Amino acid sequence: MRAGVLHATGDLRIEEKPVPEPGPGEVLIRVGVCGVCGSDATEYGRGLVLAQPPVTLGHEFAGVVEAIGEGVSGLRVGATVVCGAGVSCGDCKPCREGRTNLCRSYTTIGFHHDGGLAGYVTAPANIVLDVSDSGLPIDTLGLTQPMAIAVHAVRRSGLRAGQDAVIVGVGGIGAFITFAAAATGARVLVVDRNEERLDLGLRLGAASGLLAGSTPLRERLAELGMDVDVFFEVSGSAPGLESVLEAAEPGATIVPVGIQRGEPALPLGRWTLREYTIVGTVAHVFADDFPEAVRLLGTRPSWSDIASEVIPLDLVAEQALQPLLGGASHQIKTLVDPWISEPRPAVHAG
Ligand SMILES: [Zn+2]
Ligand SMILES: [Zn+2]
Repeated sequence: MRAGVLHATGDLRIEEKPVPEPGPGEVLIRVGVCGVCGSDATEYGRGLVLAQPPVTLGHEFAGVVEAIGEGVSGLRVGATVVCGAGVSCGDCKPCREGRTNLCRSYTTIGFHHDGGLAGYVTAPANIVLDVSDSGLPIDTLGLTQPMAIAVHAVRRSGLRAGQDAVIVGVGGIGAFITFAAAATGARVLVVDRNEERLDLGLRLGAASGLLAGSTPLRERLAELGMDVDVFFEVSGSAPGLESVLEAAEPGATIVPVGIQRGEPALPLGRWTLREYTIVGTVAHVFADDFPEAVRLLGTRPSWSDIASEVIPLDLVAEQALQPLLGGASHQIKTLVDPWISEPRPAVHAG
């Protein structure tokens, strides 16, 4: 089979590799499609943080069960599946409490173990969900992992119907958070520097948009009569966070989803007196967030505005990783089909 193997920073090679065998408790998946995201681009372009090379990248994949390892029950050969990619031990305190994303020995398929940018991948059966009955095309199912990240962030925030929410940054994660937040029945305002992304935010269910840098967020909220319960800061930018802190009324919940790389001066005293709730969020809890992510994907007729084109392995570096690094990605999500040699349109309607 062919695989996209990361050897070092900036060194991704498309190689011929043997098809792996599923070990005890594992399944072998024939990959239908695998998404590429900012985390892959960061590992590829900015230096290895998680990845243990040489490793096949790819942690956002969907496919069909090809073989089953010893002791696996509940999955059958031929089932269409999605994979959570996060591997947890099941024994440590957070695992016992159902917070598997905080496992003390958490590893990820696609960084620590060979991933889904390949013809086949093995995965522990307990993070593989049979979605044969979903009726969704494989390209749509390839969006499950980023949607699960969004479902997790929204669940962590406590956002519910009738509340007001702001999402700053409608990119690879912000787009999915917009959809998941609007799906709760909350009224959503999206903020972005890019008009097209604002339009996309509206199509994903936001009630209104704000072009970053035009009107201050605080003023726009007053204009709209919004008293915001939850702010999702997804851009990870200092101005994004500043606009949120300036606009947040006492009692607001702030979810810094985007990772702030700088060290902002935090006015902790003011936060105390305003009773802000600051909520961290990382990855997803497979058992809780994956089924909901698949359900949400099934509630929208087409995701072509999120992922319109599927590319072959040979184009991963040039058309997925490098554009993501430069912030010039024209698609919200780039999907890869390891079995094609030319790009093809994504198929989303069933
Ligand atoms: Zn990802
Ligand atoms: Zn654990």
